[in-house]
This record gives sequence, C-alpha cells and structure tokens, in this order.
Amino acid sequence: MSSKRGAPSLVAKLEAAASAYQDAQVIPHCSVCAKPCCRLDALVLELNWKQVKVFWHLDESRATFDQRLSAGQGPTEIRAGNGLYYAHQKACPAYDMTARTCKVYGQAIKPAGCSDFPVYADGDSLTVDLRCEAVDMGVLLEWVADAVGPEFRVVHSADAEFPFLVAVSLRRAAGGAGGSKRPKKPGRK
Ligand code: SF4
Ligand code: SF4
Repeated sequence: MSSKRGAPSLVAKLEAAASAYQDAQVIPHCSVCAKPCCRLDALVLELNWKQVKVFWHLDESRATFDQRLSAGQGPTEIRAGNGLYYAHQKACPAYDMTARTCKVYGQAIKPAGCSDFPVYADGDSLTVDLRCEAVDMGVLLEWVADAVGPEFRVVHSADAEFPFLVAVSLRRAAGGAGGSKRPKKPGRK
C-alpha cells in the first residue's frame, strides 16, 4: 500500500539519505582519495555503446568496433557482454588524473553506476560498497536512522560472497506504531 499523498515513501527516504550522505561525506573526499574508483583497479565500469564511443573517441560503427574487440584488437580494458561493455583495470578515459575529477560530471553521458557508487538503493534496502575509503559505516547508519526516524531500527549485514558489500535495511522498532509501510525484507537481492 502506498504512503499518504505527499509523504515520502520509506524507499524514497532511504534514497534521499544515501544521496545526502554521498554529497556530504563521500564526494568531498574524492579529490584526496588514495584509491580513486575511477582508476577501475578494483571496480568494473558498465557502459552502453554511446558512452564507449564518446569516452574512447571512436568514429567507427559499433559493428566494426565489436569485430575489432572480439579479434583482440580493441581496447584491452573493455569486455563486451549482454549488449553492454565493461571496462576494468585501466583508468576511465573520462577521469582527469591531474585534477582527480570526472570530466563528464553532471552530464547525461555519465554512467548511472558512477553516481550511485558507493551507496545505492537496492530494492527496499541500501547497498554500501566498502571499497570506497570515504565510507564510514557508523556515520552512515546514523545518517539513515535520522532519515527514517525512531519508528525503525537500522540493521546491516555483509554479503556472504562479497563482504565489502553491506546491505542496510530497516526493522520496525519494538513498540513502534503500526501503519501502511511494509516491514523490511532481510538481506539483499
Ligand atoms: S573510491 Fe570513494 S572517495 Fe575514492 S574517488 Fe571513488 S567515490 Fe570518491
Ligand atoms: S565517468 Fe566519471 S565518475 Fe564514472 S568512472 Fe569515469 S571518471 Fe569516474
């Protein structure tokens, strides 16, 4: 059941808390980060064809590029799959290594995954990627608790396979008021 008209849903509150946390606690650290995610040492960047074309300054057709890639003559850091492209182990071409900034910041061409990292909504919970050194779980949990209010208890658990991924979800606090919002499901995905 949806929340009352005008009142933000719980998911919307979580998303807003994640976004506000990133703006206040993560982005200011990017310029001094010891292991910038944009170098793609650990992370894989998911791209569509348009992004690949623009970032790598390609003027060939997609078919020609795909052929080149499958023949091992394309950029070695790019793999194709599921109609998308995945870049890894070489810095993103849109990363300005000197200024340590994203050259496409605020532009539509910027991959959605870049804006989400390292805290993003995942269904009715948040996923936090601890590979970002700016993340402080204690501060983030307080941030979420403030956003959802005392009616909910904030819980977190690390992914069994990838422990650097932590799911943050909510439980209705003991004695909390009833209501139309659904209780949280444990875990992620
Ligand atoms: S890993 Fe985190 S702090 Fe470092 S550049 Fe990426 S988002 Fe910024
Ligand atoms: S598009 Fe920008 S934010 Fe995303 S990996 Fe490249 S430089 Fe980093």
